[in-house]
Amino acid sequence: MAETKLYDVLNVHRGASDGEIKKAYRKLAKEFHPDKNPEAGDKFKEISFAYEVLSDPKKRSIYDKHGLKGLQEGAADGPGFTHDDLFSHLFGGGIFGMGMSGMHSRTQRGEDTVHPLKVSLEDLYNGKTAKLQLSKNVICTVCSGKGSKSGLTDPCRTCHGSGFKVTFRQLGPNLHQQLQSRCSDCAGEGEVTNEKDRCGHCSGKKVINESKILDVYIDKGMRESQRICFRGEGDQQPDVEPGDVIIVLQQKPHNKFQRSGDNLYMTHTISLTEALCGFSMVIRHLDGRDILVKHPAGKVIKPGDIKGISGQGMPQYKNPFEFGSLYIKFDVSFPESNFALEEQLKILSSLLPPAPQETLPPSDEVEEVDLLDYDPNVRNNNTNRSEAYDEEEMNSSGTGFPCVHQ
Ligand SMILES: [Zn+2]
Ligand SMILES: [Zn+2]
Repeated sequence: MAETKLYDVLNVHRGASDGEIKKAYRKLAKEFHPDKNPEAGDKFKEISFAYEVLSDPKKRSIYDKHGLKGLQEGAADGPGFTHDDLFSHLFGGGIFGMGMSGMHSRTQRGEDTVHPLKVSLEDLYNGKTAKLQLSKNVICTVCSGKGSKSGLTDPCRTCHGSGFKVTFRQLGPNLHQQLQSRCSDCAGEGEVTNEKDRCGHCSGKKVINESKILDVYIDKGMRESQRICFRGEGDQQPDVEPGDVIIVLQQKPHNKFQRSGDNLYMTHTISLTEALCGFSMVIRHLDGRDILVKHPAGKVIKPGDIKGISGQGMPQYKNPFEFGSLYIKFDVSFPESNFALEEQLKILSSLLPPAPQETLPPSDEVEEVDLLDYDPNVRNNNTNRSEAYDEEEMNSSGTGFPCVHQ
């Protein structure tokens, strides 16, 4: 018995004329268009497919003679069709391949837009509202995103309203490739607007590019790379749920403090006198406060010592009355040579802890030398010379080692 499924889909009888088929298709395509009827995506696909077959005399005659199976087999013989997924759906398999069911039946979600935002360490300490200007597409208010004055569109003739084209390529006698691509005539939308009916405000594009200013609230204690999300602020597009705008914080380097978690780190150089005799220093903090640090005399600070001050680090994110610590690493700057007279040095050495006493060998058994400043270049020259000497030795002995006589 001859199949009538595709005729049933379009609500036409088997003998329907091309005109009747076209009329039936246009009526149904309007009714079940995913724009109006987002739940009916599969139904819309069936309608498009039925029309694609029945509006093509060659395909229609294959279908009339052999049914869907004939079309499927026909596809293998040459440029024809290959809606395998549609076949399986119409045959009751129900499952669309290649993610096609998602194309119209479900609301798509637009892509997220990511913007970096440079902030100072002060901003992250004190909190701040930053204004970020961005340009985004919004639905044209004049045509409500239809792109036409009348709000009407015609189904795209190239893709019969499906928004995609399936082409079939024969790679070998039993090898075929099915290619699915977006219809270029309607940009994948399945519908086109009559040129005279086009919305003048958006030139039929359905969206307008606008610049928008976002208030970005930087909370106290936020961190480098932290993301601030503005839900649904991405580009608008008809029938697409807009994506998010995501702000990614990038902390500019600070000239005094480094941050690690909730702690702050800084380096401070003190003189040898301060290292031995105590000091006070003032630190201008990130909120402009001046902190006085006093270190008592007699508590010696060595080069590289690290001291901490609790409660002077960064505020904790979401808990800004709690703070981390501030750590200070000390460098000690020593006085230059000959900073004091010999007499004064004697006084100094009498004040400092006594130097360890070295027991000296008898003077005729010891060679006295001077310490010179270290110069890496001089040392390299010496090394080169000795290498040259070694090389000569190697060549003469042939083995690289001089003979050892026993
Ligand atoms: Zn418009
Ligand atoms: Zn198209």
